[in-house]
Amino acid sequence: VSIGTEGTSPALARALKSDIESRLPQETGRFAKVLKGLRALTKQHLPELPDRQRFWAKHLDRDLSNMLRRTPQQLKADVKDALTGTEKLLEQVVLVGAGPGDPDLLTTAARRALHSADVIVYDRLVSDTVLTLGRREAEYIYVGKTPGVPSIGQDAINDILVEKASQGLFVVRLKSGDPLIFGRADEELDALAAAHIPASIIPGITAAAASAAAIGASLTTRGTNRAVALLTGHDAKGFAEQDWRSLAGEGARAAVYMGVGAARFIQGRLMLHDANPQTPVTVVENASRPEQIIVETCLARLPDDIAAAGIKGPAILLIGYTATRVAQAQKAAS
Ligand code: SAH
Repeated sequence: VSIGTEGTSPALARALKSDIESRLPQETGRFAKVLKGLRALTKQHLPELPDRQRFWAKHLDRDLSNMLRRTPQQLKADVKDALTGTEKLLEQVVLVGAGPGDPDLLTTAARRALHSADVIVYDRLVSDTVLTLGRREAEYIYVGKTPGVPSIGQDAINDILVEKASQGLFVVRLKSGDPLIFGRADEELDALAAAHIPASIIPGITAAAASAAAIGASLTTRGTNRAVALLTGHDAKGFAEQDWRSLAGEGARAAVYMGVGAARFIQGRLMLHDANPQTPVTVVENASRPEQIIVETCLARLPDDIAAAGIKGPAILLIGYTATRVAQAQKAAS
């Protein structure tokens, strides 16, 4: 990578160069050589230069991360298939983890997918700053579900994905956090598989991980807890039942998603199973976003302190965790 600023600021050129280099996969150089080796083959099938340019632009824009993972032999076979019409090269839908909100917490794969998407189908908790990474010409379709408000059904979302992909468009299905945690990804993947539409998944940073980082607490601690449960406060039937007996135990640790409205229910169930009322609970609202709030409380005061702090969500209830010195130092510094 070389960057020039015509002598105006070599320091800026250096900073831009290292920023761009950090986004490029390590295999980029090797990959470029493999592409060079495919030029003769491409020329044979597409003798006109504009046709070749369109061919490469389409595939490299849409499928770069996948192509980079192929061996030279596989890539050669893929390109041959694409040139002869038995096209396997393109993924049509990617389920992408948008992370907790801060765009710096996106993976480079997620950024690349967003840059090349024709259609971006996104949820309520995907932050605006992440959405702006998509192309301006892309079609943005909001399919957010607001708790307690009639919202778009899962079948309608599945239909949108199938319909857009069937039109040959590259669809990014953008979900907050990690797409495989409380994201109904399986239902969408099943619908796509049933329609024979190739799909893949780019993981993201889940809200529990971002919340733990915000309070500087290790989710697992040697000698204290060997497991951490990821729970939902709600399921399709209302408040979600859990294995309360084991969650009420002394060393139990849990990160509760969608738990704000269920806080009194969770408190009641844990106390019923003899949990210590002084068990620390730390609530992190809007983890990683500028409006992040941390509330330190205990089981006995959980619902009241949530109400007093005006927490409405999105928030994670970290049961058994206290904010550590790291987080306090960060708080003092900001
Ligand atoms: N797939 C997402 C979870 C979707 S369920 C993930 O992996 O994070 C929606 C719940 O996620 C919210 O009710 C809230 O509990 C949690 N959540 C999402 N973003 C959050 C954020 N920035 N801060 C705190 N909690 C968040």
